[in-house]
Amino acid sequence: MNELIELTAAQGAERVRAGELDPRELFEAYRERAAADELNAFTWVADRPPDSGSFAQIPLGGVPIAVKDLFCTEGVPSQAGSRILEGYRPPYTAAVVAKLTQAGAPLLGKTNQDEFAMGSSNENSGFGPVLNPWDRARVPGGSSGGSAAAVAAGLAPWAVGTDTGGSIRQPAALCGIVGLKPTYGACSRFGMIAFASSLDQAGPLTRDVTDAALLFSQMIGRDPRDSTSLEFPGRIELPRAQDLRGIRLGVPAELTGAEGGVEPGVMASFEATLRRAEELGAQIERCRLPHAPHALSAYYLIAPAEASANLARFDGVRYGLRVGGDGDLVSMYSRTRAAGFGPEVKRRIMLGTYALSSGYYDAYYGTAQKVRTKISEDFRVAFERFDFIVTPTSPGTAFELGAKTDDPLAMYLNDFCTVPMPLAGIPAISIPCGLSDGLPIGFQLAGPAFSESRLLDAAYALEQALCFDGRAARA
Ligand code: GLN
Repeated sequence: MNELIELTAAQGAERVRAGELDPRELFEAYRERAAADELNAFTWVADRPPDSGSFAQIPLGGVPIAVKDLFCTEGVPSQAGSRILEGYRPPYTAAVVAKLTQAGAPLLGKTNQDEFAMGSSNENSGFGPVLNPWDRARVPGGSSGGSAAAVAAGLAPWAVGTDTGGSIRQPAALCGIVGLKPTYGACSRFGMIAFASSLDQAGPLTRDVTDAALLFSQMIGRDPRDSTSLEFPGRIELPRAQDLRGIRLGVPAELTGAEGGVEPGVMASFEATLRRAEELGAQIERCRLPHAPHALSAYYLIAPAEASANLARFDGVRYGLRVGGDGDLVSMYSRTRAAGFGPEVKRRIMLGTYALSSGYYDAYYGTAQKVRTKISEDFRVAFERFDFIVTPTSPGTAFELGAKTDDPLAMYLNDFCTVPMPLAGIPAISIPCGLSDGLPIGFQLAGPAFSESRLLDAAYALEQALCFDGRAARA
């Protein structure tokens, strides 16, 4: 295998900046691998390296990046995993992608995803499922499954995805890589094709924690085009912590063990990781997040409600697919939407429209919003005692393709441990912590809003102690 592929992105950037590596060589090594993708991780791959000069002074050093399909990229297909946007080439580039390009990470390709980011297995993509590089009969997780599989398999040095209810952390866990969901507002949502606007956040999917910190450091910042974005307090430095002395970790009963429906193999690896954290000096205590078990119900009302409004714009007039009607506008709308949207998207539009209808608004959407407040409150109280809350990222490891496609509720349960954080707007990271039957397991740490620096530091210290080996997926 090309030894360049074994460099982490930060190591690659370092070599380029030191003048020891030609960034075009690095780009070409990855471009070739991405173009030969057998996992269906990419929906588009660049055909030539960027024609730029020196990356010597540029933070990301010319290391190419894979971008989830729902980020608009000027002149490049941006389909959000949906047939309704097939072939759509936006006239502008998403803020986060533009920032990364300017910081020295050229676009390598666009990655497959669940349609409009709705899913936990990448089987809802209009362009076919993505395969997990650890076992091709299994799912990579979703919805940023293409990004996660590409990074895990060494088809891309790093990637960006989005997380609404777990779509960065869960696929990162199932593919044995690192995924960071930032604080809501840390990264601009401008140019991200919207799913649920009060929850969506862009974030890095990387091979290790250092790469996550480096990439994230170039994604943050207020953007006047996204009124919910905020100036990040302080800078993101590369993590250095060697231990966890003085760090208090809370283990919520509701999201762990039998109460959280976590598989025994996952739980064993989670418990072993807690012991490692303790050896590194962390104090570990059991705690409660009393409303966390209701997060899934609240999420599956709030997210579809927002999606039903956001997806109203796909009407056959402005973007992508148009299926002709009987000469009248309404039949054109409905035929276009019937043909262009997949079953999960339709289910969510129905659910969301119902939850927002005048007779049911208070009972469903209103109640879900109250639960959301309670969940935030639980975290606020917990962070008075703890630096971070830790849980398994996903209750199980990668499941077989098709295993849950007929049972939406079983699919939704994958998000059990990841939905509470976006509802509260707080950051959380998943790092690989071991294997169960040869499949990766994720360990999740969540912290208060804008605690990313500390979160990355703690994750780094743990990562150094765990020594997870992801090479099998790149073989
Ligand atoms: N799996 C969750 C869903 O289907 C989360 C998706 C996401 O974070 N985009 O909604």
